[in-house]
Amino acid sequence: MARPLKSNPCDETCEWVATKKVRDGERVFECLGCDSEWTRSSNFTPKEADGTVSDEVLAELRQT
Ligand SMILES: [Zn+2]
Repeated sequence: MARPLKSNPCDETCEWVATKKVRDGERVFECLGCDSEWTRSSNFTPKEADGTVSDEVLAELRQT
């Protein structure tokens, strides 16, 4: 079993950035605000503090 991605409560300071980490062939994104992690197969879409979705995340979602 792969370890679960970290998921912490976001406190409205979220800023999602792509990392160099890869999990199951998918790039891992991390939130600078709350240290949560995301990959494109996760069942949620990471949003920035202002409610938008970053271009990097959108580009990642388009790869599927
Ligand atoms: Zn966050």
